[in-house]
Amino acid sequence: MNVYDGQRLAALMESRGMTATTDPADADVILLNTCAVRAKATDKVYSALGRIRRVKKPDALMGIVGCVARESGADAFRRVRDLNFVLGPQSYHKLIDILDNPDAKLLNIDMGGLEKFDALPPMTRSPLVAYIPIQEGCNHCCTYCIVPYTRGRELSRDPIDIINDVTHAAQTGAVEICFLGQNVNGYKFADPKSGQTYRLSDLIQETAKIDVIKRIRFTSSYPTEMTDDLIDMFRTEPKLLPFLNMPIQSGSPDVLTRMNRPNDVNQYIDIVNKLRDARPNIQISSDFIVGFPGETDDDFEQTMMIARKIGYINSYCFKYSPRPHTVAATMSGQIPEQIKAVRLARLDGLLNEIQREFNDACRDQVMECLYEGPDKTGMHLVYRTPFMQQTIVARPTDGPIAHLARIRITDANKASLRGEIVE
Ligand code: SAH
Repeated sequence: MNVYDGQRLAALMESRGMTATTDPADADVILLNTCAVRAKATDKVYSALGRIRRVKKPDALMGIVGCVARESGADAFRRVRDLNFVLGPQSYHKLIDILDNPDAKLLNIDMGGLEKFDALPPMTRSPLVAYIPIQEGCNHCCTYCIVPYTRGRELSRDPIDIINDVTHAAQTGAVEICFLGQNVNGYKFADPKSGQTYRLSDLIQETAKIDVIKRIRFTSSYPTEMTDDLIDMFRTEPKLLPFLNMPIQSGSPDVLTRMNRPNDVNQYIDIVNKLRDARPNIQISSDFIVGFPGETDDDFEQTMMIARKIGYINSYCFKYSPRPHTVAATMSGQIPEQIKAVRLARLDGLLNEIQREFNDACRDQVMECLYEGPDKTGMHLVYRTPFMQQTIVARPTDGPIAHLARIRITDANKASLRGEIVE
């Protein structure tokens, strides 16, 4: 979601004739696109602003956009005196106002709903992977999560607008479509005229009809919104990648209950089994939170067990971070940092081990991969497998770079694969 917001902001500034720079000392406008999900992310924003304000040009505009802007509001101006603008995740199209009127201070953290999608100028070219938001906000009140506060209640976009965006992306360079939403598989749009209800499965089917689009995926999914029509897409739609992000967060029913998440772990396993029945090679990824208030050693062991049982790939675990406006922040039984750190290290170790096993099992397979960009040295090219692993290949000595390439996996480590392009 933040990558998408960043791309839209960059396109908006480009539409005003600006070009990107990586050097803050050189910039006329400095904008931090921010995440407020964990306290550490918020703290980083303010330390970065402290660093940047010392090197920036005196008259450069500097501001924050996104969830930290929404969380901090006017307080951001008190914390950083020379801040020029503070724009929330639903109002960042108002950046135009400060570009037009650079002497003013601009605070806008309104919840404009879907307004920004109409207000933003269209992107002139699409990256190979086009992120297409299909909803805004979230209605699942997970007790740890600040997102319903920062991004608001869940709103699904009109499928006509979504398919227009998909078509535009396809016409301007996209090969892969990634549908985005905090609760993406809960997408539901009831057309007031026809009375028909559109679901994510309808968007996938419509998108798959576009020839130049070769890969489709979506993130992130809420377990109990995984309806049969969507599961069926993995059976019937080959363009849908065999990879699904469906966070479980914890393996303990007690912790899940306190998180206000679906707490029937067997039901989650049933959903995974149905998905595997529909697409035998599907891989699942999850996010995990360790050290949620009241989490016992036994609760944590249940998380280790489910991680092993499902065999998650490409997963993340986080130490629980109390956030303002959330129920869990005021719960009793907050867990000491030290215990959180030990649990994080153990779960991280297990997730790395599972990833390593999966990566090893990919050796000698040939997979169709999508080009992502050169590596840091510029000597190699980075591609993504259908399971979202990074795969590094030698840069061809001549000829254009293939956007989609068949790659034989020759080597694997925990973080990435190596391969060679098969002619
Ligand atoms: N609906 C989005 C939520 C984005 S937050 C999604 O499912 O991806 C991404 C992840 O951050 C969540 O899945 C959760 O594991 C983690 N997270 C959210 N709030 C947190 C908190 N207060 N402390 C630690 N991790 C948190």
